[in-house]
Amino acid sequence: MRAKAFENVKNQIGYCGIWCGSCVVGNGTLRELTKKYETIIENYDLEGWAPQDFDFKEFEKGLASIQTIPLCPGCLKGGGRSNCEMKSCATNKGITDCSQCDQPKTCENLEILQKMRTGASDAGLHVKTKDIDPKELIRNWTKELKTKWPCCILFLK
Ligand code: SF4
Ligand code: SF4
Repeated sequence: MRAKAFENVKNQIGYCGIWCGSCVVGNGTLRELTKKYETIIENYDLEGWAPQDFDFKEFEKGLASIQTIPLCPGCLKGGGRSNCEMKSCATNKGITDCSQCDQPKTCENLEILQKMRTGASDAGLHVKTKDIDPKELIRNWTKELKTKWPCCILFLK
């Protein structure tokens, strides 16, 4: 299951350059992490250790609820922002992502493009900003992901 989620987004780089494979919501990391955490606190009977004023039942409900958040299918398969400016602009230009744009200096969507890229980078996602071979990029990023918190959890045996 965890490998399936990652496989689904692994080859998807959004029009803005965000690599869906590195997104914890789409690649299954958030779900896996929450599941493992839930198991640990159950095994350790943490309820008995919690402070009196801590609503453990609500906390458990929250953990269960996080695991029901649908996995994002990825930007190229209908996920991401609806009416995305970069998506329609890049599609109209016949390019696969903004790093291939021939007029980046006059981009009308520059502000939102930068905001998306910066926000994603700050959250730990990988972003393609140069017109380089996506296959090689994905190969290298996947290697990195396997040893980097939190996505490494997907690859633990
Ligand atoms: S900002 Fe647009 S192009 Fe980038 S990942 Fe989201 S929906 Fe896709
Ligand atoms: S004009 Fe802007 S949004 Fe459109 S493809 Fe170029 S960089 Fe992307």
